[in-house]
Amino acid sequence: MDIAIVGAGPAGARAAWVLARQGARVTIFDASHPREKPCGGGVTGRALALVADAIDATSCARTPIHRARFIRLRACGASAGQALDPIALTTGESATVDLDRGALVVASRAEFDAALLHAAQQAGAVLESARVTDVRVDADGVTLETRRGHRRADVVIGADGANSLVRRRVARPFRRDQLSIATGFFAHGVTSTEIVIAFVADPPGYIWSFPRPGHLAIGICAEATAGHSSEALRARTAEWIRATGIARGARLEPYAWPIPSLAARDANELTVSGSRWLLTGDAAGLVDPITREGIYFALASGQWAAESLLRDRFASTYASRVAAEAGRELGRAARFKAGFFRPAFINVLMRALQQSAGVRAVMADLIAGQQGYADLKWRLLKTFEIGLAWRALTSSSSRPAL
Ligand SMILES: Cc1cc2nc3c(=O)[nH]c(=O)nc-3n(C[C@H](O)[C@H](O)[C@H](O)COP(=O)(O)OP(=O)(O)OC[C@H]3O[C@@H](n4cnc5c(N)ncnc54)[C@H](O)[C@@H]3O)c2cc1C
Repeated sequence: MDIAIVGAGPAGARAAWVLARQGARVTIFDASHPREKPCGGGVTGRALALVADAIDATSCARTPIHRARFIRLRACGASAGQALDPIALTTGESATVDLDRGALVVASRAEFDAALLHAAQQAGAVLESARVTDVRVDADGVTLETRRGHRRADVVIGADGANSLVRRRVARPFRRDQLSIATGFFAHGVTSTEIVIAFVADPPGYIWSFPRPGHLAIGICAEATAGHSSEALRARTAEWIRATGIARGARLEPYAWPIPSLAARDANELTVSGSRWLLTGDAAGLVDPITREGIYFALASGQWAAESLLRDRFASTYASRVAAEAGRELGRAARFKAGFFRPAFINVLMRALQQSAGVRAVMADLIAGQQGYADLKWRLLKTFEIGLAWRALTSSSSRPAL
């Protein structure tokens, strides 16, 4: 079987590695390497464990993260267009969570992705350094157009990210309400060993600072339909950078990129396969809508796609596996999201983070990708101080819709 993979990010490279090791004929199309992807670069312990058989991630440039600092800005209620009060920013509440060694590293995506691709090539996958400009599926196979001409394959794996051409050709593009926009700055010349999560109420979520080797990746994310322009969001991030002094002296390079952000009903009805195609990673919409962890899901879905192709009835095998191992969990996260970012819940959470070692342990596991959403609510409530739990459960005005 000839397998074409469009996209050599984590999803495509992982699929290529698994298939090539089993002797499949694999061509992977991507003209972008070497490149740095707009991304926080946070790679969780579970993602590192998954690829430990293929790459030595310790040889990639990466920053091991020792702790996460959570901030609730006093100006939490300000909206994206409003200027923030610097004093409020610096006097907001804060709590720190220590992370286990290996729970999270912040990687250079240029190096991490290159290592995955190199492993796939070593295993026998062929890289065609070309952008795919069209994909057509027929009864006998797939035709892929590139500027160098067309190629035929029996099956295509779409691993071409949130703007996936393969997805647009074989299924339907993401609707606007299925996407969020992440925007911010790479702050070159400064770094750290902690991640910073600063909760904001509008858009509901957080500003993050992830210390990549040699620069901080600082950003904010909003639903594409929430009415915030990319410029307003970036201006807000710039104001936060200025007020906190987190990137003093740095050269700021702006970025903006879409992230799939599926509602619960979409996560429960994922479109991932047909008779001659499979969608993986961002192209399939597999990103946690709260933590924005997508690298693990890209790697895992690349592996599931490859393993399914090595069996009979690959399309249904893959769809069932994605639903069981990712769809349900992402659906739970989507249901949880609205309540999680509500200011009343963030207030309770911040106090609990300051006072309760148990809550800090839950958040450490959430950051490391070790805490599922099925029992997050119960684990949080069990570990809250009694008064906080009582408030969370009974205060009608501040009741979090978990
Ligand atoms: C600002 C931001 C911050 C993020 N932070 C994190 C984080 O800290 N941790 C985390 O786990 N996730 C994070 N994510 C999500 C993560 O970046 C993605 O989920 C992940 O990269 C998905 O991997 P992928 O292989 O599916 O796609 P991608 O990594 O997007 O790779 C797709 C590849 O396909 C190629 N391609 C695209 N179109 C074509 C074409 N037509 N022909 C050939 N090649 C093509 C591209 O060049 C690219 O190399 C973040 C995302 C953003 C935008």
